[in-house]
Parts: sequence; structure tokens; C-alpha cells
Amino acid sequence: MISVSLISDGTFKLDGGAMHGVVPRSLWQKANAPDEKNRILLGLNCLLVNTGKEKILIETGVGIGHSEKFSELYAIDKTRTLLKELAALRVDPEEIAYVIPTHLHFDHAGGLADWSTGKLLFPKAKVVIQKEEWEAALHPHPKNAASYLPEFLEPLKKASLEIVVGNREIVPGVRVEHTGGHTHGHQVVFVETGKVTIAYLGDLVPTAAHVNPLWAMAYDVEPEKSISEKKRLIKQGVSDRWTFVLVHDPHKPVGHVALDEKERYVYQPAESLSSISWLEHAPVGIS
Ligand SMILES: [Zn+2]
Repeated sequence: MISVSLISDGTFKLDGGAMHGVVPRSLWQKANAPDEKNRILLGLNCLLVNTGKEKILIETGVGIGHSEKFSELYAIDKTRTLLKELAALRVDPEEIAYVIPTHLHFDHAGGLADWSTGKLLFPKAKVVIQKEEWEAALHPHPKNAASYLPEFLEPLKKASLEIVVGNREIVPGVRVEHTGGHTHGHQVVFVETGKVTIAYLGDLVPTAAHVNPLWAMAYDVEPEKSISEKKRLIKQGVSDRWTFVLVHDPHKPVGHVALDEKERYVYQPAESLSSISWLEHAPVGIS
């Protein structure tokens, strides 16, 4: 049986307006309260999947070794880090066989390398990315250039890359699906534990408020596709009762989605992380 642990690479902040696209602040501020600089708190929630044969990391957070200026700009809080949480689970980074980032923005793939030394942090892992994503990261459009940074992309050139096109099973029970939307090469990840289907939809549904298909980020390069792919996936997730793991929700990252009486999607967070049967050995609870 596949076991899964929810692990965190800390928190950071992004501009609340940019995170909610065309949604007016009067609406989004109720769900995601901004600070004095209009930034909202975001989690960096990753998954460690143990198939019994391989250990797989889904996403890597923002990483380590940032400059002071960068850390301040994004209010990076490293009270929790991926490496500390893996150590608490007694997992050596060298044991990770695959890393699957949804895309290569710094808050998803930044943890692949130490930014100050360029050292790869999961040296034996194959990094699974869509072909379009790798090409976009190497030659970023100016709209995206602030998210694709050489500090972790240069070291990645030396990593063992598993470049995929479209949908692919990575190992039995773990598969990726190419969605585009947020970036042209954005992919989502599914884990079938034998008990539940875990849907990790990356930046299509970053926080609980984003289960509303129209709440899409201003960062998205294909906003219409973001909305249509999100609609398709959430609809299926409601009927098949998927367990959603939300990459950036700082408080309630695991839950289901249901339809209310007005045909709106509502997020139903898990009561507590200890109540989730598939979640094993999580080192620290998320408050
Ligand atoms: Zn993100």
C-alpha cells in the first residue's frame, strides 16, 4: 500500500491582488486577509509518497539559501523546511527517487537546489517535468521571468530530468496530467493510495478560496484554460470524492469539494490532519 505524508517547506507571502486575478479585493480579503503591504500568507505544502519501492516528493517549496533581500520581499518563513521535515521522518534526501514539481516557478521547484551553493538537494532523483515547462523556464517570457530564477534553474541543468509530454504514469499509483493554464507546462499529480485518490492540483487551486473556478491568479499565462481545466477537474473530484491537497493554503490544506444547493463548489476541509486515514507520520501538524 502507498503511504503519504504531508510535509511543509514553511510559508511565504505574495501580493493578494495578483493571487486573485480579476476578483475584487472586497471579496477575496474575506477569505485571504492581506497584511499592510497587501500580501497574503501562503503555505508551501508538499507530499512525500512512499510506494514501498520508491520515495517520491511532490513539489519542493521555495528551498534554502536565498538572499536576505529575497527572503524579505516574499516574507519567507523557514520555521519549517522540507529538509527538516524529511529528517524528522528519517528520510535521507538521497533516497528520493523522483521529484515531481507541478511547474518550475520558484515557490514550487526552488527547493531542488541550495540557492547559495548551487548544490542539488535530491541528487539521485529524477525530476519529472513537462517539456513545455522546461522550455519556458529556460527561455522565460518577460511576464514570467521573475518566477523562473537562475539560482535553482542553473543547477537543475545538471539534474537527471525526466521530460514528459502530456499525461503519464510515473510509477504504479502516481501519475501526472498536463493541464497548462497557470503556465503552458503546468501539470497536476494524482496518487492512488489504494484507499483514496489524492489530487494535487498545484496552482490551479492554490488555496481553499480558489475552488471557485473563476478565482484564478493574475500570474496565469492561459487564464481561460486555467478556469476550464479547474472546472473539469473539480467536477470530477466532486463526483469521485477525491481528497484535495492545496499547495498554498496555509491553514487547511487537505479536504474535499462538494456542490452546495446553489450549485457552487464549496471546500470542506478535513477536521484535523490526524483524522485523515491516508496521512502517515506527519512530523508537525499544520494549524
Ligand atoms: Zn505557486
